[in-house]
Amino acid sequence: VIIQGGRIVDPAQALDEVFDLRVSGGRIAEIGKHLERAQDEPIFDARNCYVAPGFIDMHVHLREPGAPEKETIQTGTAAALAGGFTAVACMPNTVPALDTPELIHEVRSVAASAGNARVYPVGALTIGRAGARSVDFAALLAAGAIAFSDDGSATRSARVLWDAAMKARDLPGRFISHCEDSDLKGDSVMTLGAVSRELEASGAPAVCEDLVAARDLLIAMECVKTWHLAHVSTANSVDLVRWAKSRSAPRLISCEVTPHHLLFSDELVAARGARAKVNPPLRDQSDVSALVAAVREGTIDAFASDHAPHTTAEKSGSLEEGAVGFSGLEIAVGAYALAVPSLSVSRYVALLSTNPAALLGIAGGTLATGNVADITIFADREWTVDVGRFRSKGTCTPFEGMKLPRKAVATLVDGRLTLCDDDRAENRR
Ligand SMILES: [Zn+2]
Repeated sequence: VIIQGGRIVDPAQALDEVFDLRVSGGRIAEIGKHLERAQDEPIFDARNCYVAPGFIDMHVHLREPGAPEKETIQTGTAAALAGGFTAVACMPNTVPALDTPELIHEVRSVAASAGNARVYPVGALTIGRAGARSVDFAALLAAGAIAFSDDGSATRSARVLWDAAMKARDLPGRFISHCEDSDLKGDSVMTLGAVSRELEASGAPAVCEDLVAARDLLIAMECVKTWHLAHVSTANSVDLVRWAKSRSAPRLISCEVTPHHLLFSDELVAARGARAKVNPPLRDQSDVSALVAAVREGTIDAFASDHAPHTTAEKSGSLEEGAVGFSGLEIAVGAYALAVPSLSVSRYVALLSTNPAALLGIAGGTLATGNVADITIFADREWTVDVGRFRSKGTCTPFEGMKLPRKAVATLVDGRLTLCDDDRAENRR
């Protein structure tokens, strides 16, 4: 196929110009002006669109094995493609947790038969995510795990985490921290502050996150282990990451931010209740502003949605009872653009593709000739979030009905093209 007339944005090659791009045999074959069409070669009209290396969401919950009523690998990866993502890293807090080579194989094999977005499993860091004994890192890596995390909660013991870091320091596979002090958090349902007081809801101080972020960054630096903080949501966390990066080798320390933490403060919990319940919880406006500033200045390495689908019934109860999290894959591309307006498209693509590929050490992240043809085509086109069109099973989201300024148009995985929106069939000739 020739992707014709799009603005090719590939930060890895410092490329940002209108070109044609030819895909052949599942690879990027050629980029140039006015490529000549071979006989019967299909054309994809990408005028007024951006053509970027495939977007990679490095933090999603596919709920398989264990909770098919919330999501499956099939529906989650279909949601990924629809949202403009050609690959996802899936978190290990499934039932059972992804702590054996067999389970890593199983996820990869189900994902391969689904044939949608690529799936890179994140292995559990400790057995059963119980925080007592670390997994067999080498065996999980050999099976295809690309990072390690007890995401869903923090690894509780500094001792366990230290030993794990020393064991894994010379192996690939970043450690990914979910930063939250579970003792301080207790049974809170939101951030402690003016809004929690007004709602008379149980709140935990935002330093819940900062305490563990500081601990984990210090262990990373002392052990010289590559380390990533998931979903940073506070101004203090960002400051801590900035400090740690200033004292470490490039790329030792990295972090990601979600669309909801960039867009919503805890005021939304007052308006939407359990629908806005998420972990880390929404913070106050000064934290939101600090996160947006951190994206602009480059402290944030990646955009990641923390796609965390639940059934509508689970999201419909009271704030106390409602499930934690919501779907993100199908709103992310538009939400990041809304959250950080006027961010250069090149930086935007780096946060969604170049950097996640480099941090995880996986294929993609560039449109260099000869590379695998994983491509995201997107456009600055306003649209309204309609959960009735979601491929994800989790349709209860605070983004419902929002107008977003940017939209995924099509994805290619291994050169296989999928339109993100059935209405846009006109692009295909
Ligand atoms: Zn998490």
